[in-house]
This record gives sequence, C-alpha cells and structure tokens, in this order.
Amino acid sequence: MQIATMTIDEIRVGIREQKFTAQEVVKALFQRIKKVEPEIGGYITLCEEDALQQAIIVDEKIKAGEKLGKLAGVPVAVKDNICTDGIRTTCASKMLEDFIPPYDATVVKKLKAEDAIIIGKTNMDEFAMGSSNENSAFKIVKNPWDTKRVPGGSSGGSAAVVAAGMAPLSLGSDTGGSIRQPAAFCGVVGLKPTYGLVSRFGLIAFASSLDQIGPLTRTVKDCALSLEVLQGNDPMDGTSVKEVKTKSYLDGLEEGVKGYKIGIPKGFLQKGLNEEIAKAIEDSIEKFKELGAIVEEIDLPITDAELSAYYIISSAEASSNLARFDGVRYGYRTEDFQKLDELMEKTRTEAFGGEVKRRIMLGTYALSSGYYDAYYNKAQKLREKIRQQYQEIFKTYDLIITPTTPSLPFLCGEKVNDPMEMYLGDIYTININLAKLPALSMPCGFSKEGLPIGIQLIGGEYTEDKILKAAFALEEELKLSTIIPEGKEEI
Ligand code: GLN
Repeated sequence: MQIATMTIDEIRVGIREQKFTAQEVVKALFQRIKKVEPEIGGYITLCEEDALQQAIIVDEKIKAGEKLGKLAGVPVAVKDNICTDGIRTTCASKMLEDFIPPYDATVVKKLKAEDAIIIGKTNMDEFAMGSSNENSAFKIVKNPWDTKRVPGGSSGGSAAVVAAGMAPLSLGSDTGGSIRQPAAFCGVVGLKPTYGLVSRFGLIAFASSLDQIGPLTRTVKDCALSLEVLQGNDPMDGTSVKEVKTKSYLDGLEEGVKGYKIGIPKGFLQKGLNEEIAKAIEDSIEKFKELGAIVEEIDLPITDAELSAYYIISSAEASSNLARFDGVRYGYRTEDFQKLDELMEKTRTEAFGGEVKRRIMLGTYALSSGYYDAYYNKAQKLREKIRQQYQEIFKTYDLIITPTTPSLPFLCGEKVNDPMEMYLGDIYTININLAKLPALSMPCGFSKEGLPIGIQLIGGEYTEDKILKAAFALEEELKLSTIIPEGKEEI
C-alpha cells in the first residue's frame, strides 16, 4: 500500500471495497510516520493505540455490513489548538503543555461521526501566532521539500504532515493565512472557509472574529469532501452560520470554469513579489483563460495599511482571549508565589513565549483608553471598508486570484528576529479574514530549486463551491497534487 501518496478518496473507497482494512491503513501510516517524522517534527502528540482501536471498530462495522460514515477509516491529524477529548491539546505552548480537554471540538465530533480516525495532534506556532512554525514552544517543523526551510505557519505541522505523506487529511486554523500560507509552502491544498461556515466550538481562540478551521489535503476533491463533513450550523458557536448554507461540494465539482468572471487585482505583481511566483501565477491565469474563464484586471488595493489593521485587531482580540490563562483555572501554574497578582504575573511570564507576549502587549496597548480611537477603532473602520470593497467586486466577479505568499519558503532562522518582515509575508492572506471570505491555496508550480508555489482563489461569502470547481479545473490541468517530496515516496 503506497500510503504516502494515497488520497482520502482512495483510502475510503479501498476500505469500503475491502481492498484493504482500516487497520492496515493505520498500521502502514504509523510505519511511515516512524520513518519520516523525526526529520520533520510535524506532530506534537501521536495516538497510535487509540487510532488502532478506532480502526478495529471501522473494520467490524464493515464485517457486520453496517452503514459507514463518509470518512470511514480515513486517518486525520488535528492541529493542536483544536480540543480533542482525552488527548492532550497544547497550542504548542508551555501554558497548556499538560492540558487534556474533557470534550471534543465540534469539528472533531463531526469527523468521528463519519468514522474518521484521529491519529495525532500537529505542531504549530504557539497559540497560532506566526508564519513559520518557529514559535512552537516544543520544536520547529521542517519543510518536507527542503528541511532547511520552514513549512510556513501557524498550521505548519498540519501542512507538513500531509506533504510528507504522514496523513491524507489534517485540520488547521486560519486567522490571517495560517492554513493557506503553509499549504502554499508545503505544496498541498488548504481551504479557509467563509467565517461561520465551520464551527469554532473547541478551537482555542486566537482572534475570534477572524479564526476559522479548515482542511489541508493532497487534492481538491479531498478538500471538497472534507468540507462537506466539517461545515454546518452549530448551536454551541454563536457565530456559526444560521440559515442552512451547507452544500454538497462534490456535486458538479467537474463542471469547469467556462464563463466564470475572474478578477486579478491590478497591483498584485507589485514590489516584493518573487519573480518565479509571479510567473507561475501568470501561467495559471492563462490556463483559466484557455478553460473559458473571462479574466479582467480589477481595482483592489493590497497595501500595508490592511496588514496594520489585521495586526491591531487580531492582537486586541488575542489580548482579551488569552487573559484566561492566569494560572488559576487550568494550564501551567508558577511554583513559587505569595499573592494572587504574583501568581498571575509569574505564570504568564514563565509560560508564554516571546511572540505571544508581543501580541498581548500590542493588543492591550491598542485597546487602552488613550489609544482606542487612534488604533483599534481606526482598524475596525478600515476592516469595514475592505469588506465592502470585496462585496462590491463579488457582485460582478465569481473569483479573485492572487498569489498566496509573496515569497518562497524561507530558511529556518531567516526571519525570526525581524517580526515586521515576517508579518509582511501575510499581505495576500489577511484581507480575506478581515472580509470574512473563503479562499483556497493550491500548488500551481515549483521554483527552479524545487520549492512549491501556491495560488490563492478567493470567492464571495459561501461560494466555496465555485472556488472548488475552479481549483479542480486547474488541478486537472497542472496535475501537481500527487507529487510528493523526492526521496520520501517509499515507506
Ligand atoms: N501569520 C499570521 C499571524 O501571525 C496569521 C496567523 C494565523 O492565521 N493563525 O497572525
């Protein structure tokens, strides 16, 4: 069984048709993980025994002829900021190093209800803050295409394990690009759904008005299938979609892009964009034209101002969300203290990493009464303007296309001491969260050095179906999605 390159679809069909058992899938996968993981560092926790138990249950269901869920026997890796009942959930932070949630996040419940198998929890930037995975309190993740380079972040573990053939499906979270940017750096498909389409219940919050959970997969079809399972209203999440907006994303996936109107922001080929990325995006745009799409330039400024708005809003929300980690209720507690305020101060000083502290300070500053209007309020106004701009464009256009990132995967250590440089890498992704829109990143080429390049397809609210159809059409043309890093093919 070539588990490393197998898609979700191949696994679930193979199990259903009894070509192999769920136990065989899980065993093969763990064999591979044992071989590859030491070099990559994509997992924080592995659940081999639990996974085998779950596989036995799936196999018994098959034997008994019982009805199977959509993802029966499919191994899933879950980002370590998504709560899993009885499985340690750390947010890659010393603060939650020993935290074992007593409940499953809604997305995890949904996966289990479809008979998927949870195999482990993936490494990430601490509390999902970062773009390179170097902010994990435990270990860094390496890019499977070149282990001297970063896999992107904050869902770097989730992207790397899919790219390295250590899981056919993983869950990530995306507050400003954390699914799409690592997907681009690792050459996999990653989708950030419309805000509210997928429940956030059980996702440990970074910035609640921006966070969304989404899938990372090897193919667009797998992405569509996963979204079908993950989507939907959740009474436990007050911001989850109210009316039924859920769809079957597999239906009509092959319909193509004939007649689609695609907008290309005029300034996107601007300063700072890597030339090889620009070329790959232009080639993909040509493909879309050949496939019958109408491509036009649109006015959509992509500027540093939006980046500032994102970092003010997300840090403000983070400073409030992370106030709960005080050493009193759960998580790390300092050993030596006299008074309550000392307990809190020492706990937070000892257990949060540098980037998390930076965001808390930035957010607290932006929310303080003297600066609230100058920063937070201004950022909110800009956010509303961005939202309206996109809404206007989507009255006429079906999709917007941009690169996912301005640069190729960079070297480990290259940007750790320059947070501004790191933040600039989010220029194409953060607007989408500010505007609450869906967007997908997929591989669209490789650099001369063999590093993956990602293209971003952005849609109007709840038009994941359109995005997926376009992505599928491009994937059919490019045939890049089953390629895996050289030397890592065999088990
Ligand atoms: N890189 C961005 C940040 O550091 C995005 C993070 C995310 O999407 N979780 O905030």
